[in-house]
Amino acid sequence: MTGRKDVIVVGGGHNGLVCAAYLARAGRRVLVLERNPQIGGAAVNKEIAPGFTVPACAHILHHLHPRVISELNLAGHGLSLAAKNLATIALGRDGRHLVLRGGEATPSLKDLSPADAAALPGFHARMSRFAEVLRPLLTEAPPRLHGMNRGDQWTLAKLAWRLRRLGRVEFREFLRVAAMNAADILEESFESDLLKGALAFDAVLGTSFGPRSPGSVFTLLYRLAGQVEGRSAALALPRGGMGAAVEAIAAAARAQGAEIRTEARVARILVEDDRAAGVELESGERIAAGTVVSNADPKATFLSLLGAEHLDTGFVRRITNLRMNGMAAKLHLVLDGLPSVPGLSAAELGERLVIAPGIDQLERAFNHTKYGEYSESPAMEVTIPSIVDPSLAPEGRHVLSAVVIYAPYHLKQGWEAARDTFAELAIDTLAAYAPDLPERIVARELVTPADLERDYGMTGGHWHHGDLALDQMLMLRPVPGASQYAAPLPGLYLCGAGSHPGGGIMGAAGFNAARRILGDGAA
Ligand SMILES: Cc1cc2nc3c(=O)[nH]c(=O)nc-3n(C[C@H](O)[C@H](O)[C@H](O)COP(=O)(O)OP(=O)(O)OC[C@H]3O[C@@H](n4cnc5c(N)ncnc54)[C@H](O)[C@@H]3O)c2cc1C
Repeated sequence: MTGRKDVIVVGGGHNGLVCAAYLARAGRRVLVLERNPQIGGAAVNKEIAPGFTVPACAHILHHLHPRVISELNLAGHGLSLAAKNLATIALGRDGRHLVLRGGEATPSLKDLSPADAAALPGFHARMSRFAEVLRPLLTEAPPRLHGMNRGDQWTLAKLAWRLRRLGRVEFREFLRVAAMNAADILEESFESDLLKGALAFDAVLGTSFGPRSPGSVFTLLYRLAGQVEGRSAALALPRGGMGAAVEAIAAAARAQGAEIRTEARVARILVEDDRAAGVELESGERIAAGTVVSNADPKATFLSLLGAEHLDTGFVRRITNLRMNGMAAKLHLVLDGLPSVPGLSAAELGERLVIAPGIDQLERAFNHTKYGEYSESPAMEVTIPSIVDPSLAPEGRHVLSAVVIYAPYHLKQGWEAARDTFAELAIDTLAAYAPDLPERIVARELVTPADLERDYGMTGGHWHHGDLALDQMLMLRPVPGASQYAAPLPGLYLCGAGSHPGGGIMGAAGFNAARRILGDGAA
């Protein structure tokens, strides 16, 4: 074996890099091994035509943890935001669009429904209060319920205190709401389909849920727990694309002394004397380490890189049964000019545009996925980042980046057969709001869940490395036996989105894993 390290991090996704930075800061000799030519995992940029850069997967920064930003001095390492507080504009087919900015009763909402304009601030304030109860949990190891230690007891005590501070009435409401689905709570609070559709969209984005699926309120609360520069539930665009944000994390890791190698695919995790002892690369190179941390998803880590023979059968069964079938595709367009959306100004095209006309439309679109199909009316989250960040496209031209749901990983006819039809369907869906869009398109790319699996190693192409469902959350994430970042094999840890608190460009899983490793005195 060559050049022994204290810690090897398998995968240079943003969580792997955050973990590496904290471990290196604590004096560990850390090596990050990334299989792709680029670091960043699903938070990379891609040049899709000469001079045109898109965020290849993740495009909106809304919950990179403030602690990670400040402790790693990401601003000093190049993180800068081209937009800090995007509005969400729910597109209406009749040209009456709904502008949403947090809980504000905007003029467009007052126009659409005075009753909803009156109700939204209270709804938002209450949901934000509930999200605040959960927020500290993002940077804590979820407490074990069996064999609790003092740390677990302390985490639970703090949670109980935050719940108690809600007061009796709000605590009862919290319990009621957390157990509901997003559709029910929205139906009882609002009347406008456009408003309900936009809020329900946030509850299901990145998951395999419909708005009527149990647990969908929980994901909405999780989303509200995010902050940008101290503003809750704000939406930002990193200057230079998401890839630039990850470059800042990598720079912070390098500044602390971490070494990062790209095009270094790990073929397996080596085991000696019943503990992780290093890795073997696809090239055959073997590198020894006291600790191995995996940023790959739990199925890839345990079933492919480690091997079931090192684990007990109950654990293997739980990992095998993890639900991680992606539902999101990504459409990228190169445009020779801005499309026009009747009812929106050119500046408003630079906000976050959502196509989700109502709860029923979302639920129907979701229903198709149960049978390996996609709906003819997909829902979408669209940004044109080049409006606020001219570095992404030549002057006067633009790039459009859209997450398209529901695009099931298990598609009956397979994604190769469906790629063009689905891309055209997504473009037609956009053109229903922006009629001149098709003639503005110079180049296009559709990234399917199958591409996500192949190109970024995400099993099932899943945004969160596993559904954020109630049975795969908190102390159950990814599965009991590995929910506090330590694997059942000594010396092996997890640090990616498959661990608590899940996916999104948050860095919290990487942060929590580093703290656990250091707490164990590992490496
Ligand atoms: C289409 C799409 C859109 C999204 N949009 C947003 C968004 O707008 N905002 C947001 O916050 N989140 C978004 N997300 C979610 C977010 O991108 C992910 O949750 C996040 O990237 C997970 O980070 P991670 O570091 O845990 O894992 P990943 O980003 O998956 O990184 C894992 C890394 O490990 C590497 N790796 C895997 N196996 C090996 C191996 N054997 N050897 C070496 N390296 C290996 C991979 O190449 C990869 O670099 C989106 C996701 C998708 C798919």
